[in-house]
Amino acid sequence: MAEHESLEFGKADFVLLDNVSLEEFLANLKLRFEKGRIYSYIGEVVVSVNPYRAMNIYGRDTIEQYKGRELYERPPHLFAIADAAYKAMKRRNKDTCIVISGESGAGKTEASKYIMQYIAAITNPSQRAEVERVKNMLLKSNCVLEAFGNAKTNRNDNSSRFGKYMDINFDFKGDPIGGHINNYLLEKVGRVVHAREEQRMQGDESLLRSLHIQKDPTAYSYIKVGGHIKVFHSNSTLKDIKVLKGFIEILPIYEEHCVLLQGNLKFGNDGDVTLIENSKLVAVLGELLSTKEENVEKALLYRTVATGRDVIDKQHTDQEASYGRDALAKAIYERLFCWIVGRINDIIEVKNYDARIHGKNTVIGVLDIYGFEIFQNNSFEQFCINYCNEKLQQLFIQLVLKQEQEEYQREGIPWKHIDYFNNQIIVDLVELQHKGIFSVLDEACMNVGKVTDEMFLQALNSKLAKHAHYTSRKLSPTDKSLEFDRDFRIRHYAGDVVYSVLGFIDKNKDTLFQDFKRLLYNSSNPVLKAMWPEGKLSITEVTKRPLTAATLFKNSMISLVENLASKEPYYVRCIKPNDVKSPLLFEYERCKHQVEYLGLLENVRVRRAGFANRQTYPRFLQRYKMISEFTWPNHDLPSDREAVKRLLQGCGFEHDVAYGKTKVFIRTPRTIFSLEEQRAEM
Ligand code: ATP
Ligand code: MG
Repeated sequence: MAEHESLEFGKADFVLLDNVSLEEFLANLKLRFEKGRIYSYIGEVVVSVNPYRAMNIYGRDTIEQYKGRELYERPPHLFAIADAAYKAMKRRNKDTCIVISGESGAGKTEASKYIMQYIAAITNPSQRAEVERVKNMLLKSNCVLEAFGNAKTNRNDNSSRFGKYMDINFDFKGDPIGGHINNYLLEKVGRVVHAREEQRMQGDESLLRSLHIQKDPTAYSYIKVGGHIKVFHSNSTLKDIKVLKGFIEILPIYEEHCVLLQGNLKFGNDGDVTLIENSKLVAVLGELLSTKEENVEKALLYRTVATGRDVIDKQHTDQEASYGRDALAKAIYERLFCWIVGRINDIIEVKNYDARIHGKNTVIGVLDIYGFEIFQNNSFEQFCINYCNEKLQQLFIQLVLKQEQEEYQREGIPWKHIDYFNNQIIVDLVELQHKGIFSVLDEACMNVGKVTDEMFLQALNSKLAKHAHYTSRKLSPTDKSLEFDRDFRIRHYAGDVVYSVLGFIDKNKDTLFQDFKRLLYNSSNPVLKAMWPEGKLSITEVTKRPLTAATLFKNSMISLVENLASKEPYYVRCIKPNDVKSPLLFEYERCKHQVEYLGLLENVRVRRAGFANRQTYPRFLQRYKMISEFTWPNHDLPSDREAVKRLLQGCGFEHDVAYGKTKVFIRTPRTIFSLEEQRAEM
């Protein structure tokens, strides 16, 4: 239990709740939030509530308080977990990772930045110039990614619509020497083509002009329909970009702009012929993409198809042309983003050959990834995100249980079965080969001829009719939560989610006509060209189907989880207290949902099913020795272990504890409380 925390601020660790119920959990969370205690623990998991106000708890003095301390020595804080991960890495030579999850606007990205700042602050005491350079780059890389990957949404003014995993590499001294970033599912669908809000456009006037950029955002139809694109970088980020000019050149900016211009392209038809209505734009696009105007026009209006040995140009209908335009905009955006990540990685990778090959090189990974999402309308993106959370929950279960089990073994304490819900069944429901939802979806997409979302739903219904975690309107016609024929429902570990099947097929296929790839491959801009290597293939050479969005996402999740599983994990669970960005409001129902969806009660249960608390014998004595005459001020028993035994016997807690080789294990929180009370009375 954390020191310096009185019970007037609620319980610093949820493991110490009298009863594990949603009500008690929330009452404690609310109390702590209202008292300005935004961090709490579940064992070693940090629970954080977004304060929506500047807190004076991240400064140098706070950093000093946490540096090198044990978790329970100070009030709960992100710094404590960052320090624990750092200590494990440095002292025990372990790769560690910090998994930060929570819904949009809950404070994940802010948390990841504080963690990185903490690590930067406590490392490199000897101020080596190279390490300082690396630290700077690592911290700045965030700004660049935010500038391109973030967007203003109605949930968060600075929402990262991509999951980010960042490795920080350390040398034998424990100083950062490099890093690597992976990004996951940039939400390009929502971001580029249909969206809700305006973006700020700022920037230097002459630059804007040279790129044909209109200052008024409403000049762009992707923005008018509510595009999520951020063209220019708000506030400080533009400055940061300038600082990093070495690796981010102007290209990304005009390419993003190019994406916006494309949105303005309108197609119409004249008899059988599809036309571009505002053809002036095509010239501008040609210029921005460093390719000929007529090639742009052709790629927008025609599709090269191979029929037998013949290759013909088939004209698009205006719908096909619009579909192609949107797909191109999305693809440019996505590849641009990946390109930027690639450039950042070039800059921050471990440079020193010796350190890479011979030196001790340990890693702390920081994962900032969207939590469970349940909206009014849930589609393919929510499905992927929620699957990702099932995977992370499965990892959490395995690792926490494994860690517990290993510790009990090390300490010579008999293993006791822990009762919890194992969500492997839901992971399987989604990802299992041949049987899982992703496989059914891929199969549907593979069929020749027109495949509809409804056909996919039918296939799901016939494959999964008996699955306990799957149902649909067809299978449960009287179920009120399934309003429409297109709905299906998954019982996730964190709650039920109804998905609409509409759009699954298109989003999964994610087709970009080969003609566009060829267009961009033939750009005279070498960077653009490099982003489209498949454009090299001619139509008759293109035989392999590109992997579907679901398969790509599944593969990236499987490798992410493998990577995390090889590290010692620490968790931060972020909660958003209200939807109006208020520092005062604790919206009970909103918080309740999140506590459920984040599986926090399950966390507490898993933690408590074993032993709520464990401490080494000397630590325990240090804290509680005043309680017993046998141990105060010093004991004369043969070992600290014996002394702790005697103390606990004296208090009547014998039945609630187990004595390991180096630690005492206490089963129920009540015992800890009682010890704390007795200590306070002394
Ligand atoms: P998304 O999934 O949309 O990217 P997120 O969880 O990353 O959301 P953040 O961008 O980290 O959310 O936080 C949203 C906003 O909440 C921040 O811009 C900031 O205003 C506020 N905020 C978050 N954490 C803190 C904090 N610790 N102190 C003060 N303000 C905070
Ligand atoms: Mg974020």
